[in-house]
Amino acid sequence: MIWIGDVLVSPGEGGVYGERMLEGYRVWDPRRSKLAAYYLLGGGLDLAPDMRVLYLGAANGTTASHVADYVDVVYSVEFAPRPVQDLLEIARRRKNIVPIMADANRPDEYAPFMEWVDLIYQDVAQPNQVEIAEKNLIFLKPGGHLILMLKTRSVDVRRDPADVAAGARSELERHLDVVEVRWLEPYHQDHAAIVCTHRG
Ligand code: SAM
Repeated sequence: MIWIGDVLVSPGEGGVYGERMLEGYRVWDPRRSKLAAYYLLGGGLDLAPDMRVLYLGAANGTTASHVADYVDVVYSVEFAPRPVQDLLEIARRRKNIVPIMADANRPDEYAPFMEWVDLIYQDVAQPNQVEIAEKNLIFLKPGGHLILMLKTRSVDVRRDPADVAAGARSELERHLDVVEVRWLEPYHQDHAAIVCTHRG
């Protein structure tokens, strides 16, 4: 990852969503992006130039645009029409973002456009977040990684967030090795980044 002092940045053309520039780099704000928060808080799974990424829950492309600055290609799945409009505009300017308007619960619908990926990044804030991740493992190379941004309140608002994360972890361990669980406070309350490796 690229740091200027303690500021996380990415190396792309600016003006995507009004982000600040610093020494010609795009500042990646941990308050606007859970993935930036993960890195600011010491997360260890770096993005690399040869990576292919499947991004589930791309919204208007804020975080996806930064990921695209680091990697080879970002297949960006989003099902809500309004954010997809912004995502399409970003994809017009960044040739390595492939926008896919689809429901991440239905990977069969976008399988024809997909190839194997090195990383699945998921930020969908749905009650069935783990199930969605599992369905998309068909695209993940053996040895590839999943970063699941778990919004515990979307799973169960009444349960202790630590219990929800422990439940998600044990479900994921059916197919994956969990290598890291990192809470995203103070940037994002009750969110945990669960990082896993695909056993294949
Ligand atoms: N990752 C984005 C970022 O950092 O810029 C923010 C994502 S926002 C928290 C969650 C997004 O997931 C919303 O835009 C929502 O429409 C999308 N989403 C939720 N469920 C989905 C599904 N089943 N398929 C595709 N997109 C979904």
